[in-house]
Amino acid sequence: MTETLIRAASHVVCMDDDRRVLRDADVLLRDGQVVALGQSLTTAGEVVDAEGCVVTPGLVNTHHHLYQTLTRAVPAAQDALLFGWLQTLYPIWARFTPEHMYVSAQIGLAELALSGCTLSSDHLYLYPNGVRLEDTIAAAEEVGLRFHPTRGAMSIGESDGGLPPDALVEEEAVILSDMARVIDAFHDAAPGAMCRVGVAPCSPFSVSRELMRDAAVLARDKGVMMHTHLAENDEDIAYSLEQFGCRPGQYAEDLGWVGLDVWHAHCVKLDASEIDLFARTGTGVAHCPCSNCRLGSGIAPVRAMRDAGVPVGLGVDGSASNDAGNLVAEARQAMLLQRVARGADAMSAQEALEIATRGGADILGRPECGRLSVGARADVAIWDVSGIEAAGSWDPAALLLAGPNTVRDLFVEGRQVVRDGQVTTFDLQAAMRKQAVLANGLMDG
Ligand SMILES: [Zn+2]
Repeated sequence: MTETLIRAASHVVCMDDDRRVLRDADVLLRDGQVVALGQSLTTAGEVVDAEGCVVTPGLVNTHHHLYQTLTRAVPAAQDALLFGWLQTLYPIWARFTPEHMYVSAQIGLAELALSGCTLSSDHLYLYPNGVRLEDTIAAAEEVGLRFHPTRGAMSIGESDGGLPPDALVEEEAVILSDMARVIDAFHDAAPGAMCRVGVAPCSPFSVSRELMRDAAVLARDKGVMMHTHLAENDEDIAYSLEQFGCRPGQYAEDLGWVGLDVWHAHCVKLDASEIDLFARTGTGVAHCPCSNCRLGSGIAPVRAMRDAGVPVGLGVDGSASNDAGNLVAEARQAMLLQRVARGADAMSAQEALEIATRGGADILGRPECGRLSVGARADVAIWDVSGIEAAGSWDPAALLLAGPNTVRDLFVEGRQVVRDGQVTTFDLQAAMRKQAVLANGLMDG
């Protein structure tokens, strides 16, 4: 039995069904689960003093391309819209090897961990030079985050009217058989699973209608979740109307891409009927506010989605379009962006934190994560609010208004991954040195 008592937190923001915020409270973790919350709890195990700290559920990241951590702030892509941005970066990404994938995932996941994230999905849709999904799974095991990698894919190259260069696309039969392979090898459906695999054709503009449909059939046959990019910006909508004769929502519905087992990234341009479709079918949305700002894509109608009952989670998106990978900063951005669109009462700090925790867990099919209640998984973030960021705050639990951007401590499945602001599970400094060598190699062409 492994037990940890997080003791005397000034606030515990539970994000449970009653949205309780406990004062001067303890949280007891045992064998990967939360087993008690309250005052004066005791343990024979480890004690972590959380005086002067706010405790929250670990944050959940629902959209990322970890490999992009090696291609931040690429000059020619700094000011481009989505399609031009992609066309600048594709030739660089075509040079990635398994080592690039592994190291970029280590760095990206460590950055997420430091920003309070305990569960991250990843969307890996290019497989040059022998790259495999397990390059990222190995990195997640080392860092210690709960991981939902998705086997992405691109199959329509430039010569067939698609956006990516032909060298980065794969045969559809190869894609489907590799999707089945990685699900069989790595997907764990058990409670408390540390790895769940999904299928994720990159976007309607880089795969065929047939692959979208066949991937959905495969996912449902295997009982795994489905993910793609949808309705990201005006170019995306125009492409859908021109190529498919319909809006993205209709396209998704026709091919089986709506339901409780589906979540779509961005959805900036969903119209009222598409929001209604997502609400009726329980289709999830991964909201990525920084990326949407960075690429000038627009403001996703998150207020309207939430009011209609659409399940919404938060994602940092890839580090080539953010360029940060800080999930708690992303949550603040989500709150601010809705206020830009709809006024100061459009989204509270607590609601944005809810989207970043239980909201994300729910759209990934993990309702046992993203909240602190008895029986929930022991994924916990401890935020020190005694520092300058929260100085003078009248409401330390309102972390997104005045709080730190990094955690003091982080637990995943009861295991400590961050202690005193340092990742404890692997040699981050060594990974940083490797990262610098690899990124410099890419710059040199
Ligand atoms: Zn993306």
